[in-house]
Amino acid sequence: MAQYLQSEEMAQRYRAKAIDVPNQRILITDFRNSGQEEDLSVPPNCGGFGRVRHFVRTRDANWPNNPLPIDPACRALNLPFQDKIRAQVFQNAVCNWRCWYCFVPFPLLDGRKAHSQMMSVGQLIDLWSAEGDRPRLIDLSGGQPEIVPEWILWTMRELSARNLDQEVYLWSDDNLSTDYFWTCLTNEDREFVRSYPMYGRVCCLKGFDAQSFSFNTSAGPEEYDRQFVLLRRLVELGLDLYCYVTLTTEDTVNLEAKISTFVDRLRSLDENLPLRTIPLKIQVFGPTQNRLTPGRTASLMNQCSAVDAWSNELERRYSTSSRAMHVSDVPLVSRRAV
Ligand code: SF4
Repeated sequence: MAQYLQSEEMAQRYRAKAIDVPNQRILITDFRNSGQEEDLSVPPNCGGFGRVRHFVRTRDANWPNNPLPIDPACRALNLPFQDKIRAQVFQNAVCNWRCWYCFVPFPLLDGRKAHSQMMSVGQLIDLWSAEGDRPRLIDLSGGQPEIVPEWILWTMRELSARNLDQEVYLWSDDNLSTDYFWTCLTNEDREFVRSYPMYGRVCCLKGFDAQSFSFNTSAGPEEYDRQFVLLRRLVELGLDLYCYVTLTTEDTVNLEAKISTFVDRLRSLDENLPLRTIPLKIQVFGPTQNRLTPGRTASLMNQCSAVDAWSNELERRYSTSSRAMHVSDVPLVSRRAV
């Protein structure tokens, strides 16, 4: 019988060591002397606790563009749309899944002391403020930031207190594995997050069906359905939401039909959600190399067939003009006004 991660137990255990609520501190990855440091194109900044990431719209002529978070940030910051953007990235040091293609070495996902430190959001913003040529886009990444959803809330409050809430665009990742946003924050907290004007969140769907999800994350297949339950709640709340999907799979039987079902499922949450969903191409580099198996290697090829099916589905369902919209301009039908 397949052995799956105990991801709920892991999330609880990691939360206990990754947040200090009374002192408003979060366990943040220290990139210095870590396996991730050697993969960075520029050295870590912010005293070792940050890194600058260059997001690029087009990396592969045979794969759909990735406009995230370029377009939402440009729209919010009132900048012309561009093909690259720099972001200040901070990572929290825990995640309750173990995607085989994760570019973060697994020792940086279990909150070990050698690679992390408790930091307040004030300390992080101080470090960012001290950087020359600092990006106006701050990406709270992971790890899984939503194991400690207070991190996003506290960062918003800190930026507001410093009158930086109109200067900085805040972006965060959510792998849709925990409901702590709903159980650890109050209604008032959630309303603050919802109505914060310069914020976008990307939710990562780790497959297009339960089998591909489990193959990618090592979590139980039933957690695939849970991703949609959590995503629906966020859509209904009215955040400025975007999605990534990874399409790596071992199983190509009835691939077109499975992708069609996946698109239906997104549309059941919001009819325009597929237009805010970006397929991410998985590539092998850094720590991924050592995690390859024959099945994973095959899945790298299979994702190309899956993305063709995805593009065909979108072409069939949406007009040329809808598909040409900037992702930040695609209306979520259910989204409440800020
Ligand atoms: S959910 Fe994200 S951070 Fe966690 S293992 Fe997967 S890719 Fe890595």
